[in-house]
This record gives sequence, C-alpha cells and structure tokens, in this order.
Amino acid sequence: MIPTEEQALEAQRIAYTTLVLDLENKKIGYVSKSKREVAEVHNFIKKEVYPESVFSPRKDIVLDDRELLNKLVSVNLQDHGLELFGITFKTTQLPKSPSVRIEAADDQSINESLEQLKSYWENLGLTDVNSVTYRINRSLMGVYSYGDEWQRRIINTNTKGKSATLETELLNRLKNVIGSEIKESKFVVKQLTDNEIIEKFLADKAVSIDPAIPKQADEVLIRLLRHKLIMKQKRVTKRRCEDWNCHTHSWLDSNCPTCGRDMIVIGEGLTIKINEPVFLKGIVNNLHENLHEYEVIRHKIQRSKYKKWVIRLINKKTNLSTFIVSILDKKDIKLCEALSRESYGLIAIYDTHYSGKKDELEAQGVWQVSCKMDNDLLKSLS
Ligand SMILES: [Zn+2]
Repeated sequence: MIPTEEQALEAQRIAYTTLVLDLENKKIGYVSKSKREVAEVHNFIKKEVYPESVFSPRKDIVLDDRELLNKLVSVNLQDHGLELFGITFKTTQLPKSPSVRIEAADDQSINESLEQLKSYWENLGLTDVNSVTYRINRSLMGVYSYGDEWQRRIINTNTKGKSATLETELLNRLKNVIGSEIKESKFVVKQLTDNEIIEKFLADKAVSIDPAIPKQADEVLIRLLRHKLIMKQKRVTKRRCEDWNCHTHSWLDSNCPTCGRDMIVIGEGLTIKINEPVFLKGIVNNLHENLHEYEVIRHKIQRSKYKKWVIRLINKKTNLSTFIVSILDKKDIKLCEALSRESYGLIAIYDTHYSGKKDELEAQGVWQVSCKMDNDLLKSLS
C-alpha cells in the first residue's frame, strides 16, 4: 500500500460519529473524531439525564504508588488470563538511574526476570513506569499512566491498531487484578498535605470541580470557607450528597442534611479568593497574644488611588511602624514600593502566584514570608 492510501484509509476510519449503547453495563458512549464534539454531547446527555445537576462522580482510590505497580505486574495466566510481556521503567535504581525496557523474547512471560531484578525496582511505583504490556488472547496490549494536578494517577490503554473487543477484554481482566474499574478510577498515589492543597488553591486562584477534585481537597476548601478565609461565592458551596440514590443538593457547608453522608462540591469551577480582612484579622489576633511590645492594628491604607487592608505594627518604645502586606496582586507590589519609599519597615506575605516578584521586593529590603506564614511569622517575630 502506498502511504497516501494509508492516510485515506485512516481518514475513512474516523470520519463517522456514533452513539453507542451498552445495555448490559448501562453505559452510553459517543464516538467521534472531534474531542470537543464528544465533550459537548457528553454534557448534553448529562443535562438530559440529570437536569438538576451537571456533575461527575468522584472515583478516587487511595493506593500506594508501589502497591499499584506491584498489582499491575503480579499477573499470571491461571488467575488473571494475562501474561506480563514487557515493562518500561522511566528510571531504575541502577547506577545513573537509566531507563530500562524488559521484554519477553518468545512466548514466555517476564515475571521471573522481573523478580530477579527486584532490587532495582522494588522501591519504584507506577509513576516511574512508562508502560506495561500484557499478552492477552495471543495479542499484545499495553497500559500507561499519567498524573493529574492533584497527584492522582489515571491508567489508560494503548489501543493504537487494536480492536475495541480486545481493549474491553483487557480492562475486564485488569479490573480483577486491581479491584476497580481502570478507566473510571483515579488512583491517589500520594496524599497531599493540607498546606500543599491550600497553596495550590491560592496559586491557581480557581479550582476545577469537573472532574471532581480529591475528597481531601474538598474538605480543605470547605474548612477555608467555614472560617471565611476565602470569599464565599455563589457556586462555591453548592454540593450534592456523595450517595447517588440520595439526590440531596445543599448550600450548607455541613454533611448531607438528608442522610449525613459526605457532600461533593458540584459545578464547573470555583474561583478562590482570599478574604483579606478576615485573613489579616486572624494574624492580628495571634500577634496581639504574642507580641506584647508592639501595638497591632489592622487598617485600610491608600496609595495612588489603591486601597488595601494591611497590618501595622507599632513599636511601643520607639514608635516606629512596620507594615505587614499580603501580596495578592501586582498593585500590592507597587504599594510596597510606595511604603518602602516612605521608609516604613515592611513584611510581605507573598502568594505563591507572585513568588517570582520576591527578588524585586528583596531589593527594597522587604522581609518576606510565604503564605503558610501564620506560624512561621510568629516564630520569626517572637
Ligand atoms: Zn444524602
């Protein structure tokens, strides 16, 4: 076949759109060459079926990265109908951490070889692997994984040139290996700390909730809202019961008012904005208790038509003032410059978003603390 024919064939192969119904598994699918078209039809179907809510259920499975890899490679013909054919490590615990591909040369599986090389990869996880290839029904098919912004791994199949039947077969068999649906699950391989989540919220200034953010991030978000540390916005607290049969939606930041289960935030996205006066009030209260030699005042100042809440520390002995300013906007950097010119002492609380401006502020002699500051600030001041 000449290459142009191959291209023509390729074009023919994908130039159709189909709605697929899987009655057995109660699933609706839509096949199209356009990802955007698929997304639009997807949304349309969701709105038709669930007119009250457009949400995507969260299927997070907490599974250690190493354990996940171990499960994926511990397969055998008798129990799983799968043989391990090949694996590509991005890195190994060999000198200079080379990437390594291990592949079966004939009809054998690589289980034994992999076992013998265990010391070189036993501390690695799925994150360190490019692909795992299985032999299934005399064919080969691989899986690969990628991470999302919340440190969750998503596993997908490498279907290039493979039939849909073979893919379904592999997915079913892997479901038995892992104990959950491969394509619909997100594997939480690393638990984020609350601080990491908050920093991410503040850096992104928005949070995507379709697909759903991890449960842990939901909880942090609700906690920040409850303490009014971030601004309450209309969409923010609209949540639905995590139990599909409950159908309860609520604007309350509590558990489900109907059944008491956890609630999942719904909607397409939320903007995250610090509630500055409240944020500063928290700091002021802490400083009051800990900095007796200073007078601590929270007030609004104005420079070049720009108004901003700041904290002013006045040394009771010397009467010298130091301002604590949170850097949340470019205008805040200008404000710091202005205060610095007026010879005030300055402590900047920088948002990770503006951490690139650190040097600029440092040149002006501004003392800086990160957003995680509360405790750090206290420690450095007392
Ligand atoms: Zn409920």
